[in-house]
Parts: sequence; structure tokens; C-alpha cells
Amino acid sequence: MSEQPRQDANYLAYTQEDWRALLLSLGEKPFHVGQIMKWIHHRFVGDFAEMTDISKSLREYLALNGNVAEPEVHEQFVSNDGTRKWLIKSASGSLFETVFIPEDTRGTLCVSSQVGCALDCSFCSTGKQGFNSNLTTAEIIGQLRIAMRKLAEVYPDRSRTVTNVVMMGMGEPLLNFDNVLPAVGLMMDDLGYGISKRKVTVSTAGVVPGIERMIETTDASLAISLHAPNDELRDQLVPINRKYPIATLLEVCSRYAKNLGNKRTITVEYTVIDGINDQPEHARQLSHLLVGFPCKINLIPFNPFAGTGYKRPSMMAVRKFQERLVSDGYSVTVRTTRGDDINAACGQLVGQVADKTRRQEKYKKIAAGEIA
Ligand code: SAH
Repeated sequence: MSEQPRQDANYLAYTQEDWRALLLSLGEKPFHVGQIMKWIHHRFVGDFAEMTDISKSLREYLALNGNVAEPEVHEQFVSNDGTRKWLIKSASGSLFETVFIPEDTRGTLCVSSQVGCALDCSFCSTGKQGFNSNLTTAEIIGQLRIAMRKLAEVYPDRSRTVTNVVMMGMGEPLLNFDNVLPAVGLMMDDLGYGISKRKVTVSTAGVVPGIERMIETTDASLAISLHAPNDELRDQLVPINRKYPIATLLEVCSRYAKNLGNKRTITVEYTVIDGINDQPEHARQLSHLLVGFPCKINLIPFNPFAGTGYKRPSMMAVRKFQERLVSDGYSVTVRTTRGDDINAACGQLVGQVADKTRRQEKYKKIAAGEIA
């Protein structure tokens, strides 16, 4: 009896190493790695029949054993300010979001790593919906492919494309490390999307073991969601702080930065919330805390969402906070709010969860620092 074709590999997720191993196991030459990856990631071709510089037998083998499958785009939204949001369907049936933010000289894609999030940061709407599922590597890299492909359709001259990626969409990337890492590798690989390591940023709420693993495995840029200058306040805003307090977090980040070497810095994200963490005292403490820490600070005025008790600070308050830090010698930017007419701004991404209760309890415990 002949063996049934398995049809189960999603080649979108394959790194150079995966391709090399597969081709060697088939007795094929490694130079096909470049050919195949360019078809998939540079030319957005998924049908092996079109990959005419590859032998027919190899094409047939690949087509029989897998496919190049992007996750399905459920809906696209375009903001008045040009921001685009794609609502994408995951294998679990839930919907998650990817946001493209065009600026004069660059285009940033905000990529999701999970549907929902277990960490329950008190000011984040994704956190409020709880955890649903991890995205696969193909679903993570698929977001970049979808964005680049769709932007190329709208702007055939490629005048608008993705130049920067931030893993700041839904979810905590470092709690989905095994799927995120290969996707980040493909973003930076010249045979993948060829984005510079300085322009691919993994953002974490402070999952210290994940940062430890990054030291060994990647040289992508790192951002940490600090949001408070002392543990007492951070425990309230970012509950994972109870397990990995500020000093532990900054220590591992310093080692990560040191490992990256020359002039690479860590981005410190600080969501400014009216009356909560925006006082002169907080700026002073923050300034003191970050002495000698190789960083740039990014202030994010809090974006309100339905049901939150927090308020957006006045721009004046944010500027004052910024000035205090700048006068102490820090490099501080203020993130402008983009796409809030389509609920695409930071902390407004909620997607649509098909099954909300599943695995919630376990992840609540992770968030509370009860289990690793
Ligand atoms: N889990 C990762 C990445 C997702 S959040 C992390 O915590 O870094 C991306 C950034 O948006 C984080 O800095 C997060 O704290 C911030 N954010 C979340 N909710 C927000 C809100 N309502 N207003 C402004 N920024 C918010």
C-alpha cells in the first residue's frame, strides 16, 4: 500500500536551517535553500509549480508534503491617518491583530505573538481579555508577509513598506519563545525579510528567563515595558513584577545589551497614566533607577479603552515628564497615538477570542507568579 501524502508542513515557518536539513535529508543540494526562500518571502509565491528554477521532482515532493499557508485575513481597517489594521484568523479560530503605522521615513509593523495575554497588566485591554492561545511561527511571520504583500499591492513602487517590526501587538512574545524566535530570525534573515537587527524589536513585560534565552539565541533589539520606577507601583501595573522585580529585570537586560555590543541600547517603554505614574517624583525615581543603564526611553500616553478606570494624561504632563528625564541626560521620545479611530493604538488590540475560558486558570497562575 502506498503511503498517504502528509500535507502537514507549513513552509512559511521554515528557517534557513530547517530548509538545509530537509534538502540534505532528500539528497538535494543546499543552494536550493536560497532559491526556495526567495520565492516564498521575496516574491510572495506559495505555489511550487511557479518555482521554475527548482527541479520538478523537488517541487512535487514539497507540494505533496506541505504548503505555504498564510493565516487568513478576516478584515482590513484603514485609519484616517493611514494606519492599517488587519484582523487575522488563527488556527484556534480566534482573531488577532496586526497594525501597520506609516511615518514619513519608515513604516512600522506591530506584530502579535499570542491571542490574548496571560500577564494581566492593569492598563492593557489585551490583558483584560485573558489568554487564549499561542500563535504559531507561521502565524507570526505570516503577519509580516501579509503586510508586505498587501502594501506592495497598494504601492507597487514599494514607496510604502515595512521597514521596522515591533513585537508589540497582542500577547507576551517571551511566553511563546519557541514560536517567536524562528519568526524573528526570518524577519532579519536576508533570505527572509532582510530587516536589520536594529529594526526588529522584541518587547516584553519582563519575562526574565526569556531574556536569558535571548542572550544565547538572538541579536534582535529589546524593549521592556517598565511603566513604573519602583516595585510597589510596578507590582500593581505589571503583575509579573512580583515574580521578577525591577532590579532582576534590569540586570538581565544589561547583560543582553552588553552581549549585543557597540552602541546598542534597550528601549524602556513607559505608559504614562494620569495621576498614577506621572508625578515629578516618579520621573525623579526613574531617572535615578536608570543611571548607567544603556537605554532610550519611550513614553506612551495611556490609551483608554472601554471599561478602564485609568485616564489619559494631558500632553502637557507628558512633556513635563519628558523634560525632567531629558534634563538628566536621557534620550526620551513620546509615542504619538496612531490609528485610534480603528482601535489600533497601543493597548487597544483585543482581536476576538473564540474560547475565552480555555487555559485561563493556568495562565492566571503564571501571571500571579505562582508557576514558571
Ligand atoms: N507583552 C509585551 C508586548 C505587548 S504591549 C509587552 O508588555 O511589552 C506593547 C506596549 O504597549 C507595552 O509597552 C504595553 O505596556 C503598552 N500598552 C499596553 N496597554 C496600553 C495602553 N492602554 N495605552 C498605552 N500603552 C499601552
